[in-house]
Amino acid sequence: MPLYDFRCRSCHHEFEALVRGGDTPRCPACGGADLERLLSTFALNTDERRQAAARDSRKRQIRANRDKVIADEEYRQKHDKE
Ligand SMILES: [Zn+2]
Repeated sequence: MPLYDFRCRSCHHEFEALVRGGDTPRCPACGGADLERLLSTFALNTDERRQAAARDSRKRQIRANRDKVIADEEYRQKHDKE
């Protein structure tokens, strides 16, 4: 059973819903049926998902490294002054 992301056009509530056959889900917030189907992360194939994950972890590493460099620099400056 496919799981889709929807956005309600009436109240802009976003939610996930399982869609069976020709069923149209209803907005759980306002009960409206005027829904826009969003591109779900499930639509990504495994290659794209792996690349996205690799990009994320690289970004995290760069950020962690920059924090360390800044911390080292602050430490050095504090000790130079004393
Ligand atoms: Zn709604």
